[in-house]
Amino acid sequence: MKTGPTFPIETTALLVPSPGSPFTISPVLIQNLRPNELLVEIKYSGLCHTDFLLRDGALPKVTYPSIPGHEGTGTILAIGPAVKNRSLSIGDDVLLSFTSCNECHHCLEQSPSTKCKLMPPLNLSCVRDDGTTAYQMQDGTPVSGHFFGQSSFAKIAVVSELSVVPIKGMTEEEMGIWAPMGCGYQTGAGTILDVFKPRKEDVVVIFGMGGVGFAALMAAALILEVETVIAVDLVQEKLDLAKEMGARWVINGKETLDVVGEMMKITGGKGADFAVDTTGVGKVVQDMVQCLGQGGTAASVGAPAPGVKIEVDVGMFFALKEEADTGRGWQFIPRLIQAYKEGKFPVDKISKVYPVEDFEKAIADTESGKVSVVMLGQVLWR
Ligand SMILES: [Zn+2]
Ligand SMILES: [Zn+2]
Repeated sequence: MKTGPTFPIETTALLVPSPGSPFTISPVLIQNLRPNELLVEIKYSGLCHTDFLLRDGALPKVTYPSIPGHEGTGTILAIGPAVKNRSLSIGDDVLLSFTSCNECHHCLEQSPSTKCKLMPPLNLSCVRDDGTTAYQMQDGTPVSGHFFGQSSFAKIAVVSELSVVPIKGMTEEEMGIWAPMGCGYQTGAGTILDVFKPRKEDVVVIFGMGGVGFAALMAAALILEVETVIAVDLVQEKLDLAKEMGARWVINGKETLDVVGEMMKITGGKGADFAVDTTGVGKVVQDMVQCLGQGGTAASVGAPAPGVKIEVDVGMFFALKEEADTGRGWQFIPRLIQAYKEGKFPVDKISKVYPVEDFEKAIADTESGKVSVVMLGQVLWR
């Protein structure tokens, strides 16, 4: 029998001290590990919009201080005795993704499932399912974490069993490049590959060229070879890159006031067969719905701030999927990794790794749109 780690464990986190305050690097203590959890030494973390929602106080259930981070790569340090996956060993490299309840009918069909009935509370509340947190400040103040079952913005993270996707033999470089697979990339690619399933002759429109948007673009244009993919964004450099990645048309929403009109012009009045919004901005979601052609399907996978509403012309004939079923970690991520190896999912071209200490620059570069995807290399904490 192996002996477990001794608690408390001292580690470091990039946490949010209070709603609306900037990220801060701070020491924290890990108090315990539940039998169905793992300790993972985080190597790289993706940084995306949902982390900013936590920083900005836009997630109603979260108490502060709180540790964000919901996509990453790392190495297993310890395995709780009730962890069911017997193939996992200490020292294995893993990718981190969302968690789910493992009990509802969706989870019983396939676990973890993005359709899980408890998806929002389990992933966005920053506590375990029993309401506790493993973390505290050195003065004893509780620190919420367990964001998406992982809170990857820590040097050592307490990770839910279902959040772990084992990937054997990752190189250091791949661990950096693939860190966002568990959220942004799988959301974008999953919407195209598992939900839309477009044919080559369909028209696919993608709103917002962040990590999710680029993943959708690559899945449509490179993996499925859809001929007409239209990318919409406000930053010209991203649109130029989108063209290189197979977007046949691009629309700069800053220069083109009537995006829907432009879309209709490009498609000869037919509109889109599939449209995906990755921004969560009300006006963009509305444009997405309006650019659909007869029988078109739209999916909004952006993370809107609570209360964002849209107006829809209900006379239109469309099927709106409010939230796409975005693939499932255990099966889907290896499929994306294979596509990367075949040159059909070149996520290295849209991303950049920053040392965690440079998080302010990383945030500025992603919020200004200079870089689509940023990763924090926490390996540098060592
Ligand atoms: Zn469930
Ligand atoms: Zn994300």
